[in-house]
Amino acid sequence: MLTARNRLARRKSRPAIVALHRALSRLTSTLTVMNTGAHPDDEQSGMLALLRFGMGMRVIVACSTRGEGGQNTLGPERTGALGILRSREMEEAARELDADIVWLGHGPDDAVHDFGFSKSGPDTLARWGKDRIIERLVRAYRQERPDIVIPTFLDVPGQHGHHRAMTEAAETAIALAADPAAYPEHFAAGLTPRRVAKYYLPARSGGGDTYDDEVPPPPATLTITASGSDPLTGASYDTLGEFSRAYHASQNMGHWRAEPQTAWPLHLKLGDGAEDDIRANLPANLTEIAALLASSAAAPAARQTPPLPMPSRLFPMARPLWVRWTLPNPRSRPPKRRSRNRKPHRSGIASRANWSRSTQPSLRQADSMFWPGWSQQIWRPVAAASSRSGWENVMPQPVRCWRPISAQATPPMKAR
Ligand SMILES: [Zn+2]
Repeated sequence: MLTARNRLARRKSRPAIVALHRALSRLTSTLTVMNTGAHPDDEQSGMLALLRFGMGMRVIVACSTRGEGGQNTLGPERTGALGILRSREMEEAARELDADIVWLGHGPDDAVHDFGFSKSGPDTLARWGKDRIIERLVRAYRQERPDIVIPTFLDVPGQHGHHRAMTEAAETAIALAADPAAYPEHFAAGLTPRRVAKYYLPARSGGGDTYDDEVPPPPATLTITASGSDPLTGASYDTLGEFSRAYHASQNMGHWRAEPQTAWPLHLKLGDGAEDDIRANLPANLTEIAALLASSAAAPAARQTPPLPMPSRLFPMARPLWVRWTLPNPRSRPPKRRSRNRKPHRSGIASRANWSRSTQPSLRQADSMFWPGWSQQIWRPVAAASSRSGWENVMPQPVRCWRPISAQATPPMKAR
């Protein structure tokens, strides 16, 4: 329950013009990036701020535990109570980054939990259940459909066992997520295989010297560099990351750096082709997707797609740009056709069956709930064009201007 002062502070920090700018900036990219870690506060906040606010990407933080085995600099809460506290901190930190969260563990009663410090990745995987954490990651890839996955930590000696286990699982799950024979029960729930286009390891030790990795990091194949600062706030992207990290108050996070970090070196472990930009070799925006559609045999099907109502509903001023970017001849478009296969709109409320313990509603389901009919219309031709043109590893995301954290199915966690 927020106090009056909390409410005032939150309102003051979120002027409408800022919310509008942040929402419109999402229209500049169709890419989704997922950052994996083992605890709330493992996310690479500065880098994610750059990817989200500087490049317009959708950002997802995948976290395996609630951090209930960690320290607490605020008070006496331990185990389940601390996990609840840190989950809330993570939610607020993600809100500051305009990021979504995927929880892969559900507190001390779940096998995937923070059982305290560990030096062994295999031991951690044995306690979590290796198949269990991998299956949950495969499900996360198929639901959230990231183009790019980046763990925060390396799986090397000296590193925290939870971090090592999460990085190993994140890489293992990539091949399985694309395999139509893996976890067929996912498909019964409406998911489809997903091939992550790029998988990067951090090309620096210890996730930023937090831990003492005993072997050197892999060589950097790409360095994400922040040129300038956030045009809206004037703050550096690293500082925007610290705005977010300050919500991890129980971990004493949130620092003022005289010299903000401006470069994040990465090592491309899985992915094709040379690159000088993290967005290279991917259809990274609506213009590139439109060109892809126009050059493929699926272009006629794409021209039958009805006007896209989503951004203009929220932001009428965005509609001219949206139409210009995506629909070269909107007036020649036939009237909207209703598909017999389309499911009826369910008033934005998911059925109980969609909200199981480790299942969040898929993005397609979420899009359908918010904008019925639209996501099916845009996904089908894009998918067809992708498979015909060699982009089969890329399934561009429909752009969402806004997705509240409360729309996610975060299962309740019991204190112990
Ligand atoms: Zn950690």
